[in-house]
Amino acid sequence: MKSIYGFTLSRLENYFVEKGDKKFKAIQVFEWLYKHRIHDFDEMKNVSKKTIIDLKEYFTLTSLELLQKQVEKDVCKFLFGLEDGNKIEAVLMKHDYGNSLCVSSQVGCNMGCTFCESGRLKKVRNLETHEMVEQILQVEKELNIRISHLVLMGIGEPFDNYENVMDFISIINEPKGIDLGARHITVSTCGIVPKILEFMKSGKQVNLALSLHAPNNQIRDSIMKINKAYKIEEVMEAIKKYIKETNRRVTFEYILLKDVNDKEEHAIELAHLLKGINCYVNLIPYNETSHIAYRKSSKETIMKFYDTLKKNHINVTIRKEFGSKVSAACGQLRANYEEG
Ligand code: SAH
Repeated sequence: MKSIYGFTLSRLENYFVEKGDKKFKAIQVFEWLYKHRIHDFDEMKNVSKKTIIDLKEYFTLTSLELLQKQVEKDVCKFLFGLEDGNKIEAVLMKHDYGNSLCVSSQVGCNMGCTFCESGRLKKVRNLETHEMVEQILQVEKELNIRISHLVLMGIGEPFDNYENVMDFISIINEPKGIDLGARHITVSTCGIVPKILEFMKSGKQVNLALSLHAPNNQIRDSIMKINKAYKIEEVMEAIKKYIKETNRRVTFEYILLKDVNDKEEHAIELAHLLKGINCYVNLIPYNETSHIAYRKSSKETIMKFYDTLKKNHINVTIRKEFGSKVSAACGQLRANYEEG
């Protein structure tokens, strides 16, 4: 049995066509699942009894088990249990422009960024497409809200689970379903070059964010293992190609780590690296965790870094800080839950 939430509309159409049935039934089913949010196949009113029996035989309406929910004024963090006992997290952030959900794409992560809590648990497995879709459905149900923006910035490296992530995007972007606009969806990668290029060719109008975090190879090597495989020059070349081909602006994420990458000379070097590129930089105040020794840069250092980039004509924003009280740097909730 397979979860129906893992099926793109075209796969569901194939399911019906292969049974010698009508293709449009897939649209009906999609609408019941994502517009009406049914919890039982029997609730599909305009679908024949025979079809419902078949659906029940073939598909499940599995759901993640909510293990923990931590609520603050503008942030809410969820810990979900998967059917095989693994655990993942999702974080809902309330912005002035809407509700943004940060979803996980893997159980654990193999990218080995030294500052990141998620990577302390090595990758156990990729998330199935339906496990990503259900993070949205559950959070919306639990908080009785609609999610307007989605970021793949939770646990895991989305481009290390490329196929499932692309199916996930296709499902949530489908107008007959959740209908989340492509421009409201952001995929964040640590810089897996071949996948950046594959993503470029996919033609999806989804935003791309690159976790850069350093202005040169020396620093990047010391904090991100992926830089041993793909050097900054290669990543930048792929990003330039991506921008040229898609005509879309890319976001560079840059966590400010005290005394590691937050000096004025680093800001200047970063500005040189990004000169003339259609991008903006999102400066991220580091979310400290008890297991990792990095410290957050002071407010003054962050502002100075911001000013230096501005002076050098780089578009830059500082990420609003969310949920340090609710362990919102991804990976923390699971770690705290398991380690007590
Ligand atoms: N693997 C992907 C997506 C997951 S991480 C990536 O690397 O982009 C999402 C973002 O959160 C990344 O930019 C990551 O570097 C950042 N991040 C990880 N740990 C953090 C922490 N403790 N504080 C702030 N940002 C963090």
